Amino acid sequence: MVSNELEVIRTEIEELSLKILDLLNQRGVLAQKIGRIKKMKGTQRFDPVRERSLLDLIAENNKGPFDTPTLQHIFKSIFQASLELQEGDNRKELLVSRKRKPNNTVIKIKDELIGDGNPHFVIGPCAVESEEQVRCVAKVIKDHGITLIRGGAFKPRTSPYDFQGLGFEGLKILRQVADKYNLAVVSEILNPNDLEKAMDYVDVIQIGSRNMQNFELLKAAGLVNKPILLKRGLSATIEEFMYAAEYIIEKGNDQIILCERGIRTYERATRNTLDITAVPILKKETHLPVFVDVTHSTGRKDLVLPAARAALAIGADGVMAEVHPDPPIALSDPAQQMNIPEFNNFMNKLKSKSDDFNL
Ligand code: PEP
Ligand code: MN
Repeated sequence: MVSNELEVIRTEIEELSLKILDLLNQRGVLAQKIGRIKKMKGTQRFDPVRERSLLDLIAENNKGPFDTPTLQHIFKSIFQASLELQEGDNRKELLVSRKRKPNNTVIKIKDELIGDGNPHFVIGPCAVESEEQVRCVAKVIKDHGITLIRGGAFKPRTSPYDFQGLGFEGLKILRQVADKYNLAVVSEILNPNDLEKAMDYVDVIQIGSRNMQNFELLKAAGLVNKPILLKRGLSATIEEFMYAAEYIIEKGNDQIILCERGIRTYERATRNTLDITAVPILKKETHLPVFVDVTHSTGRKDLVLPAARAALAIGADGVMAEVHPDPPIALSDPAQQMNIPEFNNFMNKLKSKSDDFNL
């Protein structure tokens, strides 16, 4: 008898659930119609006043047994889902996503095609210190057939008392040396107001970790006609990283290289924790080339070679690493930069695929 009653109630619950399903979809069709009308009129899809009056309507008409906050919570999910239906693709499928553009973005910088399936390298000192210093590195990277030289002229330092970089003087040095050796310059810009002037000196604008969510800088980078190398924020999730790139592409610049550079974790054995699986995730979720900065992610010279191997093996389009002619006297990051013989070993061992990890 009891089990029969249970069956009857269950059948009724099923019927009601199907009615709710049907009603929800009818509501969805109406929400889409509203979305189309709002699009024609150019009005905002989200209307907080209307949402408040619907929530009040639910409170006024609720006869229980569910309490009003519970029902309002359920209805807020329905409102959110309806808004997503109205907004179509943009929110759910980002411009940087592979869903929006299935083919790889390939970025031409001098003779290199970043994202073409071959490994590329961005090599140079942490900071530009002198012409002699940059020239020394330029010469050796040229010998390895590398065309992208890096060097910080505007340095985002933790302490205001540390070397802040040579500024535009540093960019001029980079440009002069790069022109002499037919190289392309990658350098970080910190201030959106410096972007225009930097165009004369820089081939790739780097946006550093600390500025990954500097939205005004990202928007300004979206308006320039140069590739952007965007580094992952110190504690940014992959989703936040992708949204940061979206800020750039949304303004019109689709020449973006993503750079995994390690994230903050509790681990102290390395300067940061290289999130190696971010590489295949970003390659899968976006159409952009992905680099790995093996210097800042590890902060350890003895790990740059295995980290670079891992990066390329897991699908990275390129590797960034710091090289200084005399690291012990470097004005920034002295402990982690390779010297010239170490860099030669790094490249030779990387190319030879030897299993010797020592530099
Ligand atoms: C750099 O590449 O010079 C740098 C400062 O790196 P990050 O922004 O990743 O710390
Ligand atoms: Mn550095």
